[in-house]
Amino acid sequence: MKVIGLTGGIGSGKSTVAAMFAKLGVPVVDTDEIAHQLSLPPSDALDEIRQTFGGAFLQADGTLDRARMRALVFQDENARIRLNEIFHPRIRNAARQALLALAPFPYALLVVPLLFEANGFRSLVDRALVVDSPPDQQLERLAARPGLDRATAEGILRSQLAPSERIALADDVISNGGSLSELQRQVQACHAQYLEWANDL
Ligand code: ATP
Repeated sequence: MKVIGLTGGIGSGKSTVAAMFAKLGVPVVDTDEIAHQLSLPPSDALDEIRQTFGGAFLQADGTLDRARMRALVFQDENARIRLNEIFHPRIRNAARQALLALAPFPYALLVVPLLFEANGFRSLVDRALVVDSPPDQQLERLAARPGLDRATAEGILRSQLAPSERIALADDVISNGGSLSELQRQVQACHAQYLEWANDL
């Protein structure tokens, strides 16, 4: 099965776009969900986090203290690299397995926020689809998110590719600077194009 990698900056609308594809019947694998599963105890990723960063990054019930971890890794580049080394290989393996287990369809969507930033993800997909959103709008959407202060949101944006760099690496781009119905129209156009492309191969 062909795989489209869906990426975009934080709060750009990836999940919204993925849900629109899913509604059209496209099987979707989301690496954020995989990361979430991998950080539920008992998990060897959590064991490695305890060994690397200390037990203070785990809550009393053994789950990851996400807010504390996020605050550290968006201030400390080395900590971010180390956290990625713990999670990314496991996410890649689980994504591969999840794609293999999907019901047959001409193509699948793999949602990977850091498709271009993290090593080893681009080769999991055949085409890269970028959701592009103006950074002002990303910050506005993120401001509405509980537990994420503006400084952390800006830190996350800074740690990711600039929109122009992401677009330069994209095969296809969906612009999310307008309404949800404009977004829906673009998703439908991409879907039609992908069906044709996958069936032609
Ligand atoms: P993250 O990087 O955190 O996973 P994301 O890229 O998946 O975020 P979404 O969760 O899809 O982004 O969108 C962020 C928020 O913005 C959501 O609340 C979503 O409903 C809203 N949103 C996205 N696009 C639009 C739009 N075109 N019009 C109105 N609201 C939108």
